[in-house]
Amino acid sequence: MNLTMLPDKKVRTKSKNLDFPLSKEKIDLINGMINHIDDSQKPGTTLRPGVGIAAVQVGHLDRMFYISAPESDGYPEWKEFFINPVITKKSSKAALRDGEGCLSVGTEIPLQDGLVHRYMEVTIKGYSYFQGKEITVTRKGYHAIIIQHEYDHLEGKLFIDRIDKFNKWKQLNDEVLL
Ligand SMILES: [Zn+2]
Repeated sequence: MNLTMLPDKKVRTKSKNLDFPLSKEKIDLINGMINHIDDSQKPGTTLRPGVGIAAVQVGHLDRMFYISAPESDGYPEWKEFFINPVITKKSSKAALRDGEGCLSVGTEIPLQDGLVHRYMEVTIKGYSYFQGKEITVTRKGYHAIIIQHEYDHLEGKLFIDRIDKFNKWKQLNDEVLL
């Protein structure tokens, strides 16, 4: 799939809720997003590896995203596809100690190193494409960070917006580094 990247203004645009039942076109889009991320994690791929993708990143302003977090550092593998999600709860502050990256932000874009200030735990409610029903899940740490990164895409927001450009690596009060 062709990725939508900065400086394309589309990645700065808010996405819209989807209607049910999903059209054949939307189901194809969903499967394309899933395959893109799954392929990006295969050994020998030429794709930039990713752990999540939102529809806007492949050019569609639909409120949905795929998360595929491989097992790592004590976190189990987690795959979920959210449609029309809402974050209903957020807890204390956290950030990944090495910062974040994004398939829509090329390596040539400046000022992308630094702590991306987020929450430690979030609750998300939405339709699960895999489970075929509304679900509510609470995730902590790394998985919570991925949820927030992908959810930002639905709002036209990017991780670089959450970095303090003047104090890139400065930990906030009460912020846990993951
Ligand atoms: Zn991203």
